[in-house]
Amino acid sequence: FDIRDHQLTSKERDFENALRPLNFEDFSGQDKVVDNLRIFVKAARLRGEALDHVLLHGPPGLGKTTLSNIIANELRVGFKVTSGPVLDKPGDLAGVLTSLEPNDVLFIDEIHRLSPVVEEYLYSAMEDYRIDIMIDKGPSARSIQIDLSPFTLVGATTRSGLLTAPLRARFGINLHLEYYDDDILSNIIRRSASILDVPCSVPAASEIASRSRGTPRIANALLRRVRDFAQVKGSGSIDTEIAQYALEALNIDKYGLDEIDNKILCTIIDKFNGGPVGLTTIATALGEDAGTIEEVYEPFLIKEGFMKRTPRGREVTELAYKHLGRSLYNSQKT
Ligand code: ATP
Repeated sequence: FDIRDHQLTSKERDFENALRPLNFEDFSGQDKVVDNLRIFVKAARLRGEALDHVLLHGPPGLGKTTLSNIIANELRVGFKVTSGPVLDKPGDLAGVLTSLEPNDVLFIDEIHRLSPVVEEYLYSAMEDYRIDIMIDKGPSARSIQIDLSPFTLVGATTRSGLLTAPLRARFGINLHLEYYDDDILSNIIRRSASILDVPCSVPAASEIASRSRGTPRIANALLRRVRDFAQVKGSGSIDTEIAQYALEALNIDKYGLDEIDNKILCTIIDKFNGGPVGLTTIATALGEDAGTIEEVYEPFLIKEGFMKRTPRGREVTELAYKHLGRSLYNSQKT
């Protein structure tokens, strides 16, 4: 049971879409980001112009797709979705760009995975709303210029460190999404439960929230599973007892840590005496990409107090030893 498996099935996608807030009002948390966006959206609407290009970065499942959809809704414009790996050739990009109506929002997920040649074409599209496409080959090769309607590109990435400087520079609005506090996650869970028409008590929602790794996607996925337990093993309503029972049965860590989070902590404790140890050394020991650890996993471990960044490298805290049932003194350097 891997709740963080990002390859969603179509059923899970339908479920996510049903729970997706459609306007700023229904979007909980990320207050600073939302407050800023409200102003930028309002100003663009007053001027009747396309909103500046927006870059949303942060770990998976925190609401990047949701927010970009909301931006389009609040601007009252059309919304098109694509992703870096899908835009394989410049022609793919040209096809999407030429289909946009004035001031539409184009969402490119995983924008750090655009191929360099497609990225190059995107520059003039973002800057001047035009693209130059080469047609034909050899001596008859020539470039034709296509004018585009003004549009807003919303780019999303979990790995902002991989964006090239010229691409990053073309986004006028640059926003970082943070992990959610349990209180906000709890509100999100109760909102989702009411959409799903399942009664869910406040303490039960808090219980699910505390194990959701600060991530609405995980919170909603856990709610879905707990709802199954409530229907089969309980009365259909979600109370603390059934929530705890379900979360135990699903083997969900008390802090919501997933397998990789736990592996990172174990590696630092078992192989490096709890640290300090450099990021690349940890990554090599785990066979993971250092940037992914730094941008996707580490921020949560630091936020929850399992790990620290020191000038000499990463160190786990006492809480990590406790959580993993290790003795701090046995593993300390002699
Ligand atoms: P990824 O980058 O991995 O695709 P994402 O950051 O785009 O993830 P979304 O798909 O927007 O994440 O959100 C995942 C789920 O969490 C959706 O079902 C959405 O409804 C819900 N969600 C995200 N943020 C919020 C929020 N602030 N309030 C309520 N629900 C939210």
